[in-house]
Amino acid sequence: MITAAFLGLGAMGLPMARNLLRKGIPLRVWNRTPGKALALRADGAVPVPTPREAAAGADIVCTMLADPAAVEETASGPKGLAAGLGPEAVWLDFSTVTPYAARRFAAMAKARGAGFCDVPVAGSVQAAAEGSLTLLAGGDPETLRKAGSVLAAVSQKVLRFGGVGQGSAMKLANNLLFGVGLAAFGEALGLAKRLGLDDAQATEWLLSVPALAPYVKTKWEFLKKDPAVVAFRLALMQKDLRLAVESAGGDTALPVVAATRDVFARADAAGFGGRDMSAVIPFAVGAAQPPKKEPAP
Ligand code: NAP
Repeated sequence: MITAAFLGLGAMGLPMARNLLRKGIPLRVWNRTPGKALALRADGAVPVPTPREAAAGADIVCTMLADPAAVEETASGPKGLAAGLGPEAVWLDFSTVTPYAARRFAAMAKARGAGFCDVPVAGSVQAAAEGSLTLLAGGDPETLRKAGSVLAAVSQKVLRFGGVGQGSAMKLANNLLFGVGLAAFGEALGLAKRLGLDDAQATEWLLSVPALAPYVKTKWEFLKKDPAVVAFRLALMQKDLRLAVESAGGDTALPVVAATRDVFARADAAGFGGRDMSAVIPFAVGAAQPPKKEPAP
């Protein structure tokens, strides 16, 4: 039986760690805010005070953290996870990061003689709880095979896109579609309202057009059901759009994504950052109603 470590017990990491425990995999856990790790004690996990202690002696070390800076911080220094990695260990990073960051983390693992794969996830908190995520993997096939039992405990499918970094590349291309689609739907509703269309009729029509991605309709229904429920924080989507633009080399390479990132950044600054990313829709509707003079016809 392998032993594993899980670092980062947020909305996604906590249910993923629980799935490892359900499969009987002995697990050490660490989280920056220790209370979340202590809560997993009842499920059989062993909370430890530092990332290094989590990684020490583990065959498979998992991270599910907010962004590249969080992974870097957790991995670095004398108490960092890299310092605890054994030469036969595999580090799986499930976080959404850039391909460049993933390659830096792989180099940190390699310096310890350990393997690394980036395995960002498609699917949200429900799929994380059900163990039915899809993993967009980058790394060599043998390293992925070594981590097979952990990957199988959290996912229904592992799609390999190439070497280290290529899972993250696929994930960033994937997520920009969600961000752009949600913001565009909010702006379409906002324009309809501004031009005096009946809200309900315009909404019903826009929800029926083939140009609308099915996902946007799902997220609209999610928002309408209970705007207080959070599956994917708006601030994390802002981060993903920023990472896509940075990875592409700047705003001019991805102008639509850069403009959408700015919409999410304004929503974040307006206090929407901790809400579900679907909150960009009402934010965009509001932003389309500035108290200004009508433009000349
Ligand atoms: P979350 O609930 O915000 O959790 C973020 C985790 O990162 C927490 O454990 C947090 O620790 C930790 N963290 C943040 N900054 C840190 C730092 N500087 N040092 C150490 N730890 C730090 O986020 P999530 O929804 O679980 O998402 C995790 C990752 O999965 C993100 O990359 C996200 O883009 C991606 N993702 C999310 C979803 C989704 O539906 N939520 C879907 C697919 C992919 P604290 O508890 O101390 O704050």
